Amino acid sequence: MAAHAELNETTAVPGGLNLPRVPEPADENDVLREQLEYLIGHAAERICGCSDCQRYLRVRSALLEIFGEPKTQLVRQSAPTLPMAA
Ligand SMILES: [Zn+2]
Repeated sequence: MAAHAELNETTAVPGGLNLPRVPEPADENDVLREQLEYLIGHAAERICGCSDCQRYLRVRSALLEIFGEPKTQLVRQSAPTLPMAA
């Protein structure tokens, strides 16, 4: 029955300490795209050999590796179109 109605509202944030909140961290994919575009743009003129160029070359080799893979795919059995056995 002890009604401790002691509403101490002094702990509430005074209102003024509102740090500017960054809405959302940029989407990582957006960052990737941005970086890629930047690197492409940088290396488009010429590869000068700076660290950005090195990054570009690394990224490029990673992104293009599916096109330059050893021909393991061709070893796949070339199955002729077999007529479906009923
Ligand atoms: Zn460079």
